[in-house]
Amino acid sequence: MRLYNSLSREKDRFVLPADRPVTLYVCGVTPYDTTHIGHARTFLIFDLLVRFLRWQGAEVRYCQNVTDVDDPLFERAARDGVKWQDLAATQTEQLLADYAALNIIMPTYFPRASEEIGTMIPIIERLIELGHAYVIEGNVYFSVQTDPDFGKMARMGYDELLAVANQRGNKPDDPLKRDPLDFVLWQTGKPGDPTWPSPWGPGRPGWHIECSAMATRYLGAQIDIHGGGADLIFPHHPCEIAQIEPVTGKRPFVQIWMHTGLVWLDGEKMSKSLGNLVFARDALKEHSADTLRWYLFSQHYRQEFDYQRAEVANAAEAVALLHTALDAVSGDGAPLDPDASRAEFLAALEDDLNTPTALAVLHLMARNTISAAADGANVVAYQQTLHELAQIFGMML
Ligand SMILES: [Zn+2]
Repeated sequence: MRLYNSLSREKDRFVLPADRPVTLYVCGVTPYDTTHIGHARTFLIFDLLVRFLRWQGAEVRYCQNVTDVDDPLFERAARDGVKWQDLAATQTEQLLADYAALNIIMPTYFPRASEEIGTMIPIIERLIELGHAYVIEGNVYFSVQTDPDFGKMARMGYDELLAVANQRGNKPDDPLKRDPLDFVLWQTGKPGDPTWPSPWGPGRPGWHIECSAMATRYLGAQIDIHGGGADLIFPHHPCEIAQIEPVTGKRPFVQIWMHTGLVWLDGEKMSKSLGNLVFARDALKEHSADTLRWYLFSQHYRQEFDYQRAEVANAAEAVALLHTALDAVSGDGAPLDPDASRAEFLAALEDDLNTPTALAVLHLMARNTISAAADGANVVAYQQTLHELAQIFGMML
């Protein structure tokens, strides 16, 4: 199959390995404000990918982390007067309940950053030894000047990289840094933040090192597919590459980088700051998981998705049509042949998970089933294929 790689900016061929499992790492949530529709869309796309790879016979080792060591989590816990551990635990429980309700397959590995500090420290130590990182007043920074390829995935000049990084948590005015774009590997943090012991004194890791450490611990030095939301194209994923490739000595860290487009709500960007998050658990009060899947897959994953509350009902109609088709009573006339539809469906998914086309094939198959059954055709094989293909989409039916 072909998958669009954000690093090469092409649809790269992805061949199933013959003698080992496929490895997939997806950046997980910081456990607060979960699970909104933006999270759900990303995790549904990778759920579809896992199902499709397994349907092809591959063993898939899928790791998704929980970023429970992160500024926004600590800030939210402080604002609400709760312990950050309690907030993280209840929000992670909520996430897992939402996964179950959405029929999302559990990842093979589901590590929490707070339990992986011991995996991160040796990587940071090695970066210091190699001259890629420097220690100052109990903090450790990665020196971006030591990596000529830094930020390549974003295809931007230095000033633009810096501007984007600053919007996404970088602190350019930190007087301890040699370069405003240098990023934190270890930090003393603010007074009151949780700390762990380290060779540089008590502190905590930076966000980027968490994912490099967990990805390589669970999946190895080189990973087939690494995914996340499009907001991770810079700085998070380039930072992951910069800090792990010198340590493992293996390049590339990742064969294919996949990114899902951000989600809007009724024409406005869906964001915590605008307060217009739609949560999966609320959407599921009005719509079935199958309807939400159908709706969220109705646009290609790389496009931004405008979640229009009025449009979800159309997806419900499509799912109802599927039920009608699967319940249709077969005649004993000439059989309806599913092969052409099956081939068209698979070709769509093999082309960078073209879900809109694949769904259109399912929709047409449902209509064909209903009309052929009404004409007395034998639709048993056709119904079986329709059911099988809908399950690649994770439909519960
Ligand atoms: Zn990550």
